[in-house]
Amino acid sequence: MSVNPLLHRLTQQLAKREAEGTRRRLTIAGPNQIDFSSNDYLGLAHNAALYAAAQQAIAEKSPLAAGSTGSRLLTGNSAAAEALEVQLAHFHRAEATLLFNSGYTANLGFFAAAPRRGDTIFYDEASHASVKDGIRGSFATAYGFRHNDLADLERRLSRATGAVFVAVEALYSMDGDQAPLRELAAFCQQRGLYLVVDEAHTNGIYGPRGEGLVVELGLEEQVFARILTFGKALGSQGAIIAGPQVLREYLLNFSRPFIYTTALPPLAIATLAAAYQVLPTMQAERQRLFALSDLLKTRLNAVPGLHVPEASHVIHPVFYPEHAGPAHMKAVAQAAQAQGFDVRAILPPTVPAGTERLRLIVHSYNTEAEIEGLAAVLRRVSAI
Ligand code: PMP
Repeated sequence: MSVNPLLHRLTQQLAKREAEGTRRRLTIAGPNQIDFSSNDYLGLAHNAALYAAAQQAIAEKSPLAAGSTGSRLLTGNSAAAEALEVQLAHFHRAEATLLFNSGYTANLGFFAAAPRRGDTIFYDEASHASVKDGIRGSFATAYGFRHNDLADLERRLSRATGAVFVAVEALYSMDGDQAPLRELAAFCQQRGLYLVVDEAHTNGIYGPRGEGLVVELGLEEQVFARILTFGKALGSQGAIIAGPQVLREYLLNFSRPFIYTTALPPLAIATLAAAYQVLPTMQAERQRLFALSDLLKTRLNAVPGLHVPEASHVIHPVFYPEHAGPAHMKAVAQAAQAQGFDVRAILPPTVPAGTERLRLIVHSYNTEAEIEGLAAVLRRVSAI
């Protein structure tokens, strides 16, 4: 029997991953596992107000609630989507916002459209895959700079031509550390550079009402554009790009991930509007989240053999300096899961080889007892 050459090649590539211990597989968290992995920082994905809003949307708009029926530029637009954009511009202190179906497509939509040939993008090397994929889709010239290293960024600036963009994350998704946003904003302002901040992991949990880290620091005037996503602390789905009105108009004319896709369904818009109603009332949850985050870091760093960097917040990478490598990391994660904790290993190529880690995410609904329990379990299983 002849072997299909393409299937053969795909099988070989999977076998290579298998041999390296980095093959990815879909898994489902056990029913009663304690959540130290999801991005649902404030528990909004389980909030009754969001469910009620979704149910009401179905009751009122049936059968259109489930599907928007077209691109925003055709039949997929709605008064509710436009009202939400205006409301979110106000909330996030931006001139305007534009909805995207996910943070991934928002990053593609910005970076592949706003910078053009002859322009330059400098991006932090720890940036999310969606930022890097957007940059790949752009005709601008792009250079990475060392993570959170302004001196390295400055050294590379001599190569800049055209409009110059600097892409960073407010809080890095795999390391949990913040970009030095105040310094970056001043740096970019002095030199006329356009600072673009991905707030996927800060939207909802920073700021007095959950407006994000840029607003918490009062930098909204100095940041050119923000990507604010809803799949994490907002407990739902989608994203906005927040920035100048002209940017919004430009993106809806030129951004392919906005134009050539079916818009979010009314169901999603209603759920999101509800999430943004609840968000400002969750200051106690935000404070609790940060207190628990500090507790987790303290307790884990008391466990011999592992290390959580001082700079992490809410997302905590756990390194094993003596036992790096995918096999050990997977074994520790599996052993913790067997004890009822939903803990995941993060492996290359999501993170650079040699920096495999556990990635622990704290939520306002975790308890002190759960954190003590997790530390005790990691103390036992880390020695394997
Ligand atoms: N940016 C960052 C920093 C992220 O962590 C993620 C989610 N993994 C995204 C963008 C993509 O957002 P979404 O999940 O809404 O597509």
